[in-house]
Amino acid sequence: MFYKYETHLHTSEVSKCAYNTGAEMVRAYKKAGYTGIFVTDHFFNGNCTISRKLSWKEQVDLLMQGYENARKEGEKLGLDVFFGWEFTLNPYAADFLTYNLDKEFLLDHPYIDRLSLEEYSKLVRKNGGLLIHAHPYREAEYIHYPPNPQPHLVDGVEVNNTMSDCPSNKNYLAWRLARKHPRLIRISGTDIHSADLAGLGGVAFRYRIKDSKHFIDALRAGDAYLIIDGKITDREGKPIREVV
Ligand SMILES: [Zn+2]
Ligand SMILES: [Zn+2]
Repeated sequence: MFYKYETHLHTSEVSKCAYNTGAEMVRAYKKAGYTGIFVTDHFFNGNCTISRKLSWKEQVDLLMQGYENARKEGEKLGLDVFFGWEFTLNPYAADFLTYNLDKEFLLDHPYIDRLSLEEYSKLVRKNGGLLIHAHPYREAEYIHYPPNPQPHLVDGVEVNNTMSDCPSNKNYLAWRLARKHPRLIRISGTDIHSADLAGLGGVAFRYRIKDSKHFIDALRAGDAYLIIDGKITDREGKPIREVV
């Protein structure tokens, strides 16, 4: 028995590029047989719907909206919903999934979106957060600099960003990076912006995840299986031969 989790998900409340609300995402993941999702909307420095003219507190409240709406729907349907975000380092447009930090942390650290990666990494990790470099070798129109991963500044790497059939993600280079640095946690994420893709990516565990702290402990313990193109695989991406 596996418990499946989406690690990389956007909602239209917060992410400009997303097509579905938090509640719609929850319904899609429930249908796909997942136990939970991590809502990781674009942070203020990314493709985010939130006006920078608002106070920091107002901005933080709005950043929580997609997650809050998803959580309410999740409570109704029995899907666990956790909070994270995707920090964008400008002008490089490199993205970092951030887990196990909460609203209080954000309120206590105004304008952390302006930090360098070194500063951000130090702050996040000092406060118990986990940092994953998302799609480190993606090529896209909005990315103007060649990829330059800094493995020592992150805890892990997204070896599989769904659309693994989409060559612009260059997942094979992310795998290569993870193998070169065995310390790095490996995760898979759908980077879902449209609910019809629910079920393709994420991670799976043999046990149920209680909260974000439990999630990052489980990742650190090496207990995560990767969901790649809808199949549960081991940490090398090899499908598990077992009825799930
Ligand atoms: Zn997006
Ligand atoms: Zn994303």
